[in-house]
Amino acid sequence: MKKVIIIRYGEIILKGLNRSFFENKLVKHIKNALADMGKPNIYKEHSRIYVDVEDFNENEIIDRVKKVFGVVSISPALRFEVDMELIKKTALEELKRNIDQKNVRTFKVDSKRADKKFPMKSPEISREVGGFLLTNTEDISVDVHNPDVVVKVEIRNEAFVHSKTISGFGGLPLGTNGKALLLLSGGIDSPVAGWLVGKRGVEIEGIHFHSYPFTSERAKEKVVDLAKTLSIYCGALKLYSVNLLPIQKAINEKCPEEEMTILSRRFMMKIAERIAEKSGCDALVTGESIGQVASQTVHSLQVTNAAVNIPVFRPLIAMDKVDIMDLAHKIGTYETSILPFEDCCTVFLPKRPITKPRIEKILKSEALLDVEKLIEEAIADMEKEIISLDE
Ligand code: ATP
Ligand code: MG
Repeated sequence: MKKVIIIRYGEIILKGLNRSFFENKLVKHIKNALADMGKPNIYKEHSRIYVDVEDFNENEIIDRVKKVFGVVSISPALRFEVDMELIKKTALEELKRNIDQKNVRTFKVDSKRADKKFPMKSPEISREVGGFLLTNTEDISVDVHNPDVVVKVEIRNEAFVHSKTISGFGGLPLGTNGKALLLLSGGIDSPVAGWLVGKRGVEIEGIHFHSYPFTSERAKEKVVDLAKTLSIYCGALKLYSVNLLPIQKAINEKCPEEEMTILSRRFMMKIAERIAEKSGCDALVTGESIGQVASQTVHSLQVTNAAVNIPVFRPLIAMDKVDIMDLAHKIGTYETSILPFEDCCTVFLPKRPITKPRIEKILKSEALLDVEKLIEEAIADMEKEIISLDE
């Protein structure tokens, strides 16, 4: 009898000829996630992945595996030779464990016979095991519609018994869909945006703009902390830090005050586009969402978007703030995001930012600046570091 963790994946199964490419990536990411635990045995078998638990910490394995993109669900299970008596005995132990731990009063047995050579059909297996459980327990009854616990029996090349399913985030394994550059501020939205795109298998790099020394060292550390949390899901990530202060000063000097935000946003996009090209990123990612602030009206988004040619992914575009906050909680970035450190955008915040910028007018203002030189200088001054959890 072996303690295992069953890992299920969904969408990958639809990938036809590419399927093994996706599966192998997923196995690799699960191995990476568990690497420092002492290398438990991890293998693929009949459209599922298994981890042999042995002496390893089961809860820790589950906690790590459920954060790997592509994993749909996980069940801790017992795995053993196909033998009806053993199945009944193991199912009984599983039910008793539930009774002890969770005050379970009703149950149901759910069987699946993947090996059609096994002589009993699924409903017969459920009936027989269910009957055995009833006779060997007290004060507990069967409820097929709304049971407190479902004891699952699976007959494949071996038998499996389990009663708990933990959801993963789904999505596709990292590195199956190119690479994108995330504009990472210290706010709530951008880390969530990066996480969502990463969940579709896209590798992520980050770029952050600060206004040091107007913004503090702590504000920068906050962004590093957010990148660290993202790295749990997205792997070690490159983070570029660019000082926007000289650009903001130039805008402040030469352009109308109310255009400060939109003009700096265009600079951010242009700089990010250059870095993306250099580092092999195929798209930019931002945390913009329609109507959230003045720089995110549809008009403003249009003007920001017109600054670049590279595709810009905005996964939060139609999401409400409460839903974004919900996700931030789930992925673990919320607490860091709400720390009160100033952002570069707040340093020169106009009193009344325009909400309906006209592209012709913005281009005229931009023409008052030496855009190329400002961009080149900002990039020359840029810092780069690799962020991972264990730093
Ligand atoms: P967030 O919560 O992500 O900070 P926000 O609601 O504060 O977003 P804005 O300040 O308008 O919105 O920024 C919109 C998007 O522009 C951000 O989601 C992010 O992708 C990018 N951005 C804004 N400020 C910065 C910055 N200092 N560095 C990098 N990207 C930024
Ligand atoms: Mg922000």
